[in-house]
Amino acid sequence: MICHNCGGKLEKVITDLPFKVRHDCIIIIKELPVLQCQNCNEYLIEDSVMENVDRILDKIDRTAELEIHSYAV
Ligand SMILES: [Zn+2]
Repeated sequence: MICHNCGGKLEKVITDLPFKVRHDCIIIIKELPVLQCQNCNEYLIEDSVMENVDRILDKIDRTAELEIHSYAV
């Protein structure tokens, strides 16, 4: 995979990313596998991973302002 931003090489990394699900609700997903550019740090989430993220976001209690969830669970 090549970075759409700079053409650099994307490498698989495990990281924590925040997802804003409402203006006052942010969910941090830990240990998320993403593809990150080694050149400009732009990252890409694969479709299969994004589907799992959507599933996690659907399940989460959105009354919380900040929720931390592990991707692996
Ligand atoms: Zn890049």
